[in-house]
Amino acid sequence: MSETTTDQLTFQNPVTRYPEITPPIQDQPEPGIDQYLIPHTDRGQDSYRGTGRLEGRKALITGADSGIGAAVAIAFAREGADVALSYLPVEEPDAQEIKRVIEASGRRAFLIPGDLADRDFCEALVTQAVDALGGLDALVNNAGRQIAVEDIADLSDAQWTNTFETNIHAIYRISRAAIPHMPPGSTIVNTTSIQAYKPSTPLLDYASTKAAINNFSKGLAQQLAPKGIRVNAVAPGPIWTPLQVSDGQPKEKLPDFGKNTPLGRAGQPTEVAPAFVFLTSPESSYVLGETLNVNGGTPSP
Ligand code: NAD
Ligand code: MG
Repeated sequence: MSETTTDQLTFQNPVTRYPEITPPIQDQPEPGIDQYLIPHTDRGQDSYRGTGRLEGRKALITGADSGIGAAVAIAFAREGADVALSYLPVEEPDAQEIKRVIEASGRRAFLIPGDLADRDFCEALVTQAVDALGGLDALVNNAGRQIAVEDIADLSDAQWTNTFETNIHAIYRISRAAIPHMPPGSTIVNTTSIQAYKPSTPLLDYASTKAAINNFSKGLAQQLAPKGIRVNAVAPGPIWTPLQVSDGQPKEKLPDFGKNTPLGRAGQPTEVAPAFVFLTSPESSYVLGETLNVNGGTPSP
């Protein structure tokens, strides 16, 4: 590696590390597909360099086909982990791409498609992941759905229930099934959101689940501490992912996405992944029940 490249990787201005984007108004059915996003996201496939921080770990990551979950999957593999990827069946093209990147990084990737809103699948997912990986010592509960509805009068019972099933009930079910398999030293990291503290008006159901995830993480962390299993959470701010174009945001807001942060730009998925690596690696052994904000500088509790 040339000296110039090393300098570029080790010393970068966060304002300009990634360009300020102005996404055109676009629409995809839920869930969005990363490959169709304009502009494309950076999931670290060409940039994330591992330093052996998760050597030999066995990780299950939900929502690992795209966006933040895909960036975490790539980072974990580059750090030395084998990864089981959970995603919806229609996301197969995105999942295949991430599998290819992981295998090119010299690690194993196992694809386990299915719907996390189905309670039986949550348990089956853990069983399949344990069988494929030969155990389980890292769980990342990252899958989530976000559908903006401007008026509570239009927020259906079906949407409310499905958002809770997917975003928080699945975390409870997957964690409950996974914990008996996890030896001391294992970790669980849940994806919450800045929405847990600063709810946007069209995201009543979504933001409520994210507050619940924070609370659940802090409670479970205390319960599992004596077993040597650490639980933490990551709270992203505006990160450019397929979630935003599949009705996650009112369409007119897409061009300004992320511009109101102190850094003045949306984050890229690969900028969130190091928080998950830190909370999963043994170097964070005294960090439990924490929520790490990765949001471009917006003050959060
Ligand atoms: P994304 O669309 O790339 O990832 C979400 C993933 O959730 C999908 O890929 C899908 O595989 C999975 N998913 C959704 N419903 C599912 C279901 N019923 N069964 C199985 N899997 C399902 O978008 P993302 O932004 O990377 O989202 C990842 C996480 O980050 C989510 O929990 C989201 O709430 C959270 N988050 C995102 C942002 C942001 O600005 N992008 C900000 C804060 C929090
Ligand atoms: Mg996806």
